[in-house]
Amino acid sequence: MDLEEQEGTETVGERCEECGARLTAQELAVALESGGPALCTVHATEAEALPDEPPDV
Ligand SMILES: [Zn+2]
Repeated sequence: MDLEEQEGTETVGERCEECGARLTAQELAVALESGGPALCTVHATEAEALPDEPPDV
């Protein structure tokens, strides 16, 4: 695959998986550190407040 940066190409982790908001560098860092899904500050906070969600069965 071509690894060149392409404007407009959506990359996993670049946007909030809940609302699609573009993540800031800090939000991206948090997502990477936690190994969790890419979430904006709002949804990352909500996710933390929730108990572990069981995987879809
Ligand atoms: Zn969000």
